Amino acid sequence: MQAPSVGGVMLPRGNGQTVRLSRGASLTDFAEKINANPASLVGVMMNLGEMVTATQSVSDETLKLLADEMNFVLEIVSPEEEDRELLESFSIEFGEDEGGEEMLVSRPPVVTVMGHVDHGKTRLLDAIRKTNVVAGEAGGITQHIGAYQVATEVNGEERAITFIDTPGHEAFTAMRARGAKSTDIAILVVAANDGVMPQTIEALNHAKAADVPIVVAVNKIDVEGADPTKVRGQLTEFGLVAEEYGGDTMFVDISARQGQNIEQLLEAVVLTADASLDLRANPEQDAQGIAIEAHLDKGRGAVATVLVQRGTLRVGDTMVAGDAYGRVRAMLDDKGENVEEATPSTPVLVLGLTNVPGAGDNFLVVDEDRTARQIAEKRAARERNAAFAKRTRRVSLEDLDQVLKAGLVQDLNIIIKGDASGSVEALESSLLQLDVGEEVDIRVLHRGVGAVTESDIDLAMGSDAIVIGFNVRAAGRAAQMAEREGVDVRYYSVIYQAIEEIEAALKGMLKPEYEEVELGTAEIREVFRSSKLGNIAGVLIRSGEVKRNTKARLLRDGKVIAENLNIEGLRRFKDDVTEIREGFEGGINLGNFNDIKIDDVIATYEMREKPRG
Ligand code: GDP
Repeated sequence: MQAPSVGGVMLPRGNGQTVRLSRGASLTDFAEKINANPASLVGVMMNLGEMVTATQSVSDETLKLLADEMNFVLEIVSPEEEDRELLESFSIEFGEDEGGEEMLVSRPPVVTVMGHVDHGKTRLLDAIRKTNVVAGEAGGITQHIGAYQVATEVNGEERAITFIDTPGHEAFTAMRARGAKSTDIAILVVAANDGVMPQTIEALNHAKAADVPIVVAVNKIDVEGADPTKVRGQLTEFGLVAEEYGGDTMFVDISARQGQNIEQLLEAVVLTADASLDLRANPEQDAQGIAIEAHLDKGRGAVATVLVQRGTLRVGDTMVAGDAYGRVRAMLDDKGENVEEATPSTPVLVLGLTNVPGAGDNFLVVDEDRTARQIAEKRAARERNAAFAKRTRRVSLEDLDQVLKAGLVQDLNIIIKGDASGSVEALESSLLQLDVGEEVDIRVLHRGVGAVTESDIDLAMGSDAIVIGFNVRAAGRAAQMAEREGVDVRYYSVIYQAIEEIEAALKGMLKPEYEEVELGTAEIREVFRSSKLGNIAGVLIRSGEVKRNTKARLLRDGKVIAENLNIEGLRRFKDDVTEIREGFEGGINLGNFNDIKIDDVIATYEMREKPRG
């Protein structure tokens, strides 16, 4: 095989050498790695039938194609790995406790509540929060910061448990998809009157996939017809066998509404943690953890709830969270009180970040402001590249005309803005999970916390996207701009509603399939010539009915002579009519088409939309 050459320029041959490129790299990035001229790589791609510019981010497949062509082995670096390397370049290691065993101190379990909709997740989270109101604190407003910590007594010892306050596995999954492990234990809520439902199983599978032990809360036992035993039986099929039946899963019958057995549930969480997990962390190092919720506050700027996973976070620390950074100006706990420090498994609201991190972004404390800024900036640049890569439409020359003709490529581009990063991510991951068939792709071009801005509308205009505002509105002139430019901006405050609507819109967006349905045939018995209208066919309707303004073709001796004709005029005797049925005579005018003869047949048809199966 010859080395590819473009315009006489020989390209480097990889000889099986490895090139490492990050996801969403451009041809220029590639060229830099192998000391080639970017333009020559553009040329190679053109020979391969794809038009790409040198600086545009391209897909994994394109990079692979190019690498193969030049005999390089391509290694695409995942965002997580890239981030690890970025931190390593600052001699920072994320995710491991510093020091040896002796540095580790036990920490509270972090719990997520999951289960089918309406089975009582929200109610349970509220009930748990209430059981823990310490005397004297009653009347104090507990703040929703995305997580809270409660204490419970187990075997005479006070034990803390941290709850992630966004029910549902969507948020859990979104975080996990970003490589964040936020949860130690999952409480699976199953309503005893309803039993195991689809999302129960979904939640269960997510927990299993994440290798997270499950405690089952059989809820609504106060409801008539509640059958907690049946729930146990049903879950056995999914590998969750209750302790009382010889299994190792703890089931607790509760009523979230009546606050019944909440303490027992908390105890089950602690016991399950003790039995199957070794929850310890080093509290003495620089803090690390994840952001679980963040939003922009009018008065306070970016506020983020972070969960400390190791180390101790202190006011005055310099931190990076995702692509946000800053000095911790103040910290508030879940009761809205100022705190000076937060130890492992403690959630705190942090003030002082430059912008809003995403749910599931990791955070870490670093020694110098400069380091924090550099890490944040590198991450932001990477995000931008990745977003751009998603935006690039990949249509190869090979199938471009077919694709256009057939309308096969149809994407729904979406921009999501919301009040908090948790809800934005939950919405995004749910949308991306929508199953709408193969012909349509959903792409989230951009997502963020805050109002819908003019720049969002700009992006939407440029890429035919729709904008979703979740608990936010358009700011400033964005609304007028959207209206003027015809950008569809939709507002929601319930995730399910948003998803349902998008799903419906997508189904409507699928190109309808049409089929031809024959309406009737008419035999030409006579041809009349009219100076005004041209030739008129005197016909007998042989089958079905002939309607005005429908499509027709002309047959002569069984052969099609003309297609795509129109029944422009239809008459019975002297009257214009809209239709003539089988067995009747009449006159047909085919508009400009005059080539008709006696014995020709006019067959009429219409295109009808095929219902989708
Ligand atoms: P989620 O969708 O899982 O968060 O469910 P919610 O917490 O919103 O609860 C759904 C409905 O069930 C609400 O009307 C609750 O008041 C009700 N509910 C929740 N827990 C109980 C319970 O223990 N007993 C009864 N009777 N109703 C409950």
